[in-house]
Amino acid sequence: MKHTTKCIIVTETINKEIEFFGKRHPNYCRTCGGQGSHTYWENVAGDGGSHMQMAESCPDCTEKGICPRCGKTSLNEECDSCTNCAWMYKTIDVCPESHECYCWEEDYEKELNEEDKKP
Ligand SMILES: [Zn+2]
Ligand SMILES: [Zn+2]
Ligand SMILES: [Zn+2]
Repeated sequence: MKHTTKCIIVTETINKEIEFFGKRHPNYCRTCGGQGSHTYWENVAGDGGSHMQMAESCPDCTEKGICPRCGKTSLNEECDSCTNCAWMYKTIDVCPESHECYCWEEDYEKELNEEDKKP
């Protein structure tokens, strides 16, 4: 599979941001990227159409009373902010998520198109 130029640039940029975040917060939680929670979409009505964004605390940090950003056990009682590094639940200063690449999809479509051209 070949990555598009755009994909390579985006991946490089995000990787640099991740590296930069890791330098500023070397002990951040790798499981949640310093967010302290995981968000996911749940099909609430069971009809495949209504989805709600849910959040659950991270099993590797906030759940244990550990700060997702500085790695110390310095969270307040509610586990939504850190007394050491001022991390807060839903902070915007989190580790960027790595780039999700869809280049394989383009490859796949190209293959399909070529398939069509065959007599
Ligand atoms: Zn790619
Ligand atoms: Zn975590
Ligand atoms: Zn902290």
